[in-house]
This record gives sequence, structure tokens and C-alpha cells, in this order.
Amino acid sequence: MGTRDLKTVTRETLAACGSRIDTSVAEGMEVMSPLTGTAVASLAPNGEADTRIAIENARTAFESWRMVPGPRRGELVRLFGEELRASKADLGRMVSIEAGKSPSEGEGEVQEMIDICDFAVGLSRQLYGLTIATERPGHRMMETWHPLGVVGIITAFNFPCAPWCWNAALALVCGDPVVWKPSEKTPLTALACQAVLDRALKRFGDDAPAHLSQVLVGGPEVGAALAENPKVALVSATGSTRMGRIVGPKVAERFGKCILELGGNNAGIVCPSADLDMTLRAVAFGAMGTAGQRCTTMRRLFVHEDVYEQILPALRKAYASVSVGDPLETDALVGPLIDAAAYESMTSALREASDLGGTVHGGERQKVGPKTAYYVKPALVEMPEHDGPVLRETFAPILYVMKYSDLEDALEKHNAVGGGLSSSIFTTDLREMEIFLSAKGSDCGIANVNIGTSGAEIGGAFGGEKETGGGRESGSDAWRAYMRRATNTINYSRDLPLAQGVVFDID
Ligand code: NAD
Repeated sequence: MGTRDLKTVTRETLAACGSRIDTSVAEGMEVMSPLTGTAVASLAPNGEADTRIAIENARTAFESWRMVPGPRRGELVRLFGEELRASKADLGRMVSIEAGKSPSEGEGEVQEMIDICDFAVGLSRQLYGLTIATERPGHRMMETWHPLGVVGIITAFNFPCAPWCWNAALALVCGDPVVWKPSEKTPLTALACQAVLDRALKRFGDDAPAHLSQVLVGGPEVGAALAENPKVALVSATGSTRMGRIVGPKVAERFGKCILELGGNNAGIVCPSADLDMTLRAVAFGAMGTAGQRCTTMRRLFVHEDVYEQILPALRKAYASVSVGDPLETDALVGPLIDAAAYESMTSALREASDLGGTVHGGERQKVGPKTAYYVKPALVEMPEHDGPVLRETFAPILYVMKYSDLEDALEKHNAVGGGLSSSIFTTDLREMEIFLSAKGSDCGIANVNIGTSGAEIGGAFGGEKETGGGRESGSDAWRAYMRRATNTINYSRDLPLAQGVVFDID
């Protein structure tokens, strides 16, 4: 597909979703596609004043939305899920154009949005608190959950829509308006999602206030304005640990609430009893899928010395034969890196690994499309030590492999990195599995057995510890972050007993 064609497809895809945004603004903010490394649109960015006004408008929307009954709010999200189903192929294509994912992965991301909408619809009738035994006679104690306020959502380029929806679907049923600052690399997918939500809002009727969901196009300065504004009750920020180190303190300074979903340095452990065929397939998807640009991408692999010589040749073969190409033109499994900077950080990490004695397989740039696009062969690096670039996240398809002989030792190294997002053990030994999942096992927010580190379902709480930021989104009880809790004690007696037996008689 040529450069001009991609521009046309972009425009047509946005229009199919219902967006009428001008994508050819003179001297606007250019949006690049990693498929070709060329611009597919030029948008008018939002400035500081736009951000302030959007937050004011969202705050006004909150005044009425919080009084709409939860199940009725759920009806809006149900309609949104219907519209998403109708636009799945278009939104999936938008993800492919902006983030370079294969159609299957692009549509998979939209499916995640549909799934969380379904989850949120059910949740809209289950926003319940506890009734708690009280020590005072004639009293009742309970907790009530109320809408929280405006939710500011900052998202990363590599998942241009699903993480927004994990937040937005829950926030909307919880009674909160949302203001979304997508990555400056993927604003078109955000505008397309907003257009799809607008269709649902139109069907929903008058009890949805204006400005319930807004998109702000721009760079870090827009994200910073959301983080600093005291009218934003919750900031949910997905991106690098570097970004979290800036956003987290800004929100904390004004005692705002924050969900941080930051970088990971995810690992797998292959034990002697592992099903090696299954392990190979799980590692291949976890490490090479989405061109290594998932927060949950497998970046380190500890292989027991007894099976090292069995699995490594198979892995080398998979790395040598994996298809790299334009995912909209071919059925390649590995698409492009997002940009030149990603390629540079990959080559510099590989150089560093090689200087430390690592043996690098793959990693070469591929001749696909124009010179402005960055397609690479995924790299498998056999490392003598758990050291150097292995200790940090490089957002590219590099898998560092290390041999181990003792599980305790492998676990210690597994946990000896900043990131704490996702982890896997491959074993059929009950003891090894339970140790990995125990208090002295993996220290990550996600710990899997016999599946890879990536590809989480929406039903579980998603997020990680340490430099991953500690936030949780999506399923389980993550909804509580979008509401405020009130503890209510009601006295229906004719006395006034004080808690803890305290006496304070005034006559
Ligand atoms: P990034 O940190 O460069 O940008 C993410 C978002 O933060 C963008 O919208 C950006 O404009 C904004 N931003 C950047 N600096 C900011 C600042 N100072 N103030 C306010 N906003 C700011 O990340 P990226 O390159 O887009 O994405 C890749 C990173 O995101 C990787 O580290 C990956 O692991 C992480 N990620 C984490 C998760 C998760 O759920 N844990 C999911 C996806 C991506």
C-alpha cells in the first residue's frame, strides 16, 4: 500500500467510525504510520486552554451523571459495546495503521474493549459495599460507594485503545466523566473510538450530559495539565516508568488519586519438567508478538541447564524463520517498530549485550517498505550473566536467555529488576509451580503457569508492582478506584453509646 493510499484508508476508516475530524490541517501535528514511516494525517493539537476547558466541562457533566442510576449508566456502556462490535474491523485497521499491529492483534485489542464493556454492564448492578457488625446496640454500620469525579486517562502508543476502555467503561458505570489524552503517536484511534462512543450516546438519550467523554490531542504537556489540575479526581496513566516518575508526584502533591501502569521487564522460567513444545509456542508469542512492543512482552528467559540444549535450537529456528513484514499487506507475524528511536534503542541494547559476551541471533533491520519504516528481525540473545541491558526494559523484540541450575537462584534473579508486571513458569512439577506462585515466588502483579507473560484477559485485575507503578485496572475489584467509599453509621436507638466504651456525660 503506497503512502497516498494509506492516507486515504486512514481518512475512510475514520469516516466509517463516524468521525468528521479534519485530518489535513495545515502546519498541524503530523501523525505517522510505522507501516511506512510516513505521515497519514495532520491534526490540530489541543493546548493548555483547551485542556482547562475540557476539565471544567467534564466537572459539569459529573454533577448530573453521578445522579443517574448505576444500571442506567450501564445501559450507555451496553450500547457502546454494540457500536464497538459494529466497528470492530474499522477500529482494528486504525490500530494497525497507527501502531503497526497485525489485523488479528488490532481486532483483538478492540475485542478487549468489547469484553470490558460487557463486564462493566454487569458491574453497573453490582457497585455494592459491605454491611459491618457494630459494637454499639441499636446501630447499623455499612459502606456506600459513590461516583468519584473526573477521570483523566493518559495512554501509551502500543495499546492505542484497549487501556482507555478498561478505564472508560468502568469510570462511566461508576458515574465519572472521562478526559482522554492518547499518545501523540496514536491520536487517530482515540478520535475513532470517541466517534463510536458518540454514536452510542446519541442512541442513549438525554440523561447523558454533554462532555461525558472527551479526547485531547497533544503531547506530554497535555498529560501534565491533567496531572496538575485539582478538578481531575483520578489520573490513570499508562506508559513508561520515566513518565510515571513525573506524573505520580504531580498528582500526589495535590492529593489526587492515581493509577500508574508503567513499564515491565517480564520473564519466564523453563523448568526441567516443562512441556517443551507448548513452552516454545508460548515464548515465541510472548517475546516476538506485537514486535516486542507490549508492556507484557517476555524479555528474559531462564532455562534449566537440563533442557537448555533441547529448547535453544528450537527457539533459534523459530527466530530465524519468523516472518517480518507489513501486516496490512502480508500475513507476517511481526510488524514494524514504532519509529527510528525504537530501532536505535534496540541496536544499542544489542551492542551492549554483545560487549558483555552475549551471543546475538537476529536483530537485523529488514528491507520492508520505504526507508522511513523500521522493520527488524526479532533478536534472541544468549547471555552469560544476568547483567547490563537485561536489567532494563528495551521496548523492542529482544529476548535474553540465561541458563540456570537452581530454582531459588533463578527466582532471585527473576525478581532482581525494577519492573514487576508479568511473569511465567513452565513446569509440570507441582512443587515448582507452587513456589513460583507463593509469597517467596514471583514478585509481579501477574504470575502465570504454562502460558506466556502477555495476552491477559479482562476479568482479572491488570497491573504490576515496583517500577510498574502498583496500579490495577480492568477486572476483579479494580472498579473501586473509580469511586469514593463512605462509611456510614446509623443510630436507630434512643441512646448515644460511644465507641470503645468512652464516657462523655455532659450532665
Ligand atoms: P511514554 O511514557 O513515552 O508515553 C505514554 C503517555 O504518557 C503518552 O500519552 C505521553 O504523551 C504521556 N507523557 C509522556 N511524558 C509525560 C509527562 N511528563 N507528563 C504527562 N504525560 C506524559 O510511553 P510510550 O512510549 O507511549 O509507551 C511504551 C511504554 O508504556 C513502555 O514502557 C510500556 O511498558 C509501557 N506500557 C505499560 C502498560 C501497562 O499497562 N503497564 C501498557 C502499555 C504500555
